[in-house]
Amino acid sequence: MLRITRLAATFGAMTMALGMAACGGDDKGSDSGSTSTAKSGIVEKAASSKKLTIGVKADQPGLGLQTGSTYTGYDIEIGKLIAKGLGVDESGITWKTTVSANREPYIQQGQVDIVVATYSITDDRKKKVNFGGPYYIAGQDLLVPAASTITGPDQLAGKKVCSVSGSTPAKKIQTDYKTAQLQQFDSYSKCVTALAGGQVDAVTTDDIILAGYASQDQYAGKFKVVGKPFSTELYGIGIKKEDTAGCNKINDILKAAAADGSYKKAWDDALGKSGKAAPELDASKLTNCS
Ligand code: GLU
Repeated sequence: MLRITRLAATFGAMTMALGMAACGGDDKGSDSGSTSTAKSGIVEKAASSKKLTIGVKADQPGLGLQTGSTYTGYDIEIGKLIAKGLGVDESGITWKTTVSANREPYIQQGQVDIVVATYSITDDRKKKVNFGGPYYIAGQDLLVPAASTITGPDQLAGKKVCSVSGSTPAKKIQTDYKTAQLQQFDSYSKCVTALAGGQVDAVTTDDIILAGYASQDQYAGKFKVVGKPFSTELYGIGIKKEDTAGCNKINDILKAAAADGSYKKAWDDALGKSGKAAPELDASKLTNCS
């Protein structure tokens, strides 16, 4: 009797052990399930969490400007439009300040879900991240003091030119205008302060960014944008490299927004007073995401 009982007990213990092993197996299964959820893209993430973290600039008037805890500008409006298309309310958006140099790492590390930050689509960057868009086309230009004689990038030899590290305009000066003395900061507002203080002769970045600084009240009449763009900057919406579905969804949202008028409204709300005409979305130029 005792033996049988023991056997039964042993058997019972074995069954329990097996059961636990099975439980362990199940745990593992759900673990790999959550790993694959973490790996899946913004479409699923936005749908399940109703939240989105968007990387934007904080010191570029008209485009991405932080005042207190509020962000305003064209990139902010585009970000809202993408969030809405993903089913995320404005209250579900977390804005996160980025500078030019940390956009790729922020996307790769998952510190942001998307980046809408005057972010040019380039082949170099495409090795690390994917891009929806373009939603706007800018061009590199120069901001100079109102009395400056600089009329284009060919006159930058020996001149102090300020731009931002990790940006396409800084790179262009280094490769195409080697005789210029490039000074780099981490944000354009620092360059503009240096220009106002006479420490540099010019600031270079996209025309639309420079126009925003030139039109600030504190600089009224002090600066001019040269107005001869010397590059093509396609503004994209950065997203994780492997998130092809998310990238396609962003392009679909942009197309729908162009059709229903909300794409134009984004411009009008942020830059309608700039005097520049709202851009038209060229759906044939949208990235293929793959
Ligand atoms: N569009 C350029 C870039 O992505 C210049 C503006 C910026 O640095 O944000 O590098």
